[in-house]
Amino acid sequence: MANYQTRHIRDECNCLDVSIPVEEMTRIVTEGDVPLVSIHPQAHGIIDLCVSRATNATDYVAFSHVWSNGLGNPQGNSLPQCQLEYFADAFVEAGWDRARLFWIDTLCIPINQAALKTKAINQMGLIYSAASSVFVLDAELQQIRVSETADHSHMLALQAHILTSAWMGRSWTLQEGALAKACSFAFADGIQHMRSSLPDLERYSLATKKSNGDRLGMLSNLISSRGLQEP
Ligand SMILES: [Zn+2]
Repeated sequence: MANYQTRHIRDECNCLDVSIPVEEMTRIVTEGDVPLVSIHPQAHGIIDLCVSRATNATDYVAFSHVWSNGLGNPQGNSLPQCQLEYFADAFVEAGWDRARLFWIDTLCIPINQAALKTKAINQMGLIYSAASSVFVLDAELQQIRVSETADHSHMLALQAHILTSAWMGRSWTLQEGALAKACSFAFADGIQHMRSSLPDLERYSLATKKSNGDRLGMLSNLISSRGLQEP
């Protein structure tokens, strides 16, 4: 963990980290609620992060990422500005508002207070299942150009990429996806939305009790049956 490097969009980038209002986020977690973040551009190319409290009716996306890809930060509740700009651009690409409310562990789980950290982690099932969509970031998928796959095999090819991705291979991130009402996957040239439904969840909970091989088979069926929506 000491050697963990939070990554920028490009290796040569040296933009500054943007922190969320930590006290406000911590207060919301302390009170048993869920903090959400939104991105707001300021003058001179600076961006600000605002925190708000989720209610039962709040529409938000929850990020699910592969920790080793560099979107974590063991030092603070902050991320490089370029990554946050990427989030905002991706929201627009997905047809959402630039300032869409979102949840990401790196910004929304207090890092320095063990009891609060546990409290926030215990909320994660609820956070992912209540999100309008789970936004999946996997470095490998983000390199793939959807537009270069042939029309007929297009969706099958995307499904194959997702099934073999690092994101899919980790039970933690997989669980986040399985809890979701819908998943949105970031590819190099666009966002692909995938539906989800309650029966899938039941099948997933069965799948988790089986061996890894069986689980992959179940998930393959699960993804096929959900189908990826055409953009
Ligand atoms: Zn940067």
